[in-house]
Amino acid sequence: MTAAAQSQRRSIDEIFAIYKIQKPKLDANGSGYTTCPNCSLRRKPANRSKPVLRITVNRDSVLGFCNHCTWSFGEFFEHREGRAIFLATYDYRDEVGTVLFQTVRLHPKDFRQRRPDGRGGWIWDLKGVRRVLYRLPELMRSTKSPPATRWVQENGATNMRNLCADLKSRW
Ligand SMILES: [Zn+2]
Repeated sequence: MTAAAQSQRRSIDEIFAIYKIQKPKLDANGSGYTTCPNCSLRRKPANRSKPVLRITVNRDSVLGFCNHCTWSFGEFFEHREGRAIFLATYDYRDEVGTVLFQTVRLHPKDFRQRRPDGRGGWIWDLKGVRRVLYRLPELMRSTKSPPATRWVQENGATNMRNLCADLKSRW
């Protein structure tokens, strides 16, 4: 291997593949648990699928630590075009719970919005989509008077600011 090739970073998917790690579902902080490539397969059948390996994805690095055998790894990765990782999705539903659109938080840092295409897939724009409040059905259930009116009256700008601050703080 040449020096140039050695200095090239792998993509995060390549890192998971090389260590034989099943990609975990990551939470809003970029953390998640999965099985350990070092110990899981050697454990009793009942324990083999236990998610013991904690994965943390940062801006340009991925770390792992196994709570069972203490095996660990860490690597910087290279961002590749079009290979963003989903960190979280936020469903925006209408009054009866149908998903109208979704906000997707991606890594590297980006927010994108998409709408269902009606065939199980997604279209990455919000053309013709009715914009609703986040958690509209829950907001409606929590009140008896016309929901939007009462929600705005009671919580108004303060709650909207909190919602924005909350979304930002998850970064
Ligand atoms: Zn382990």
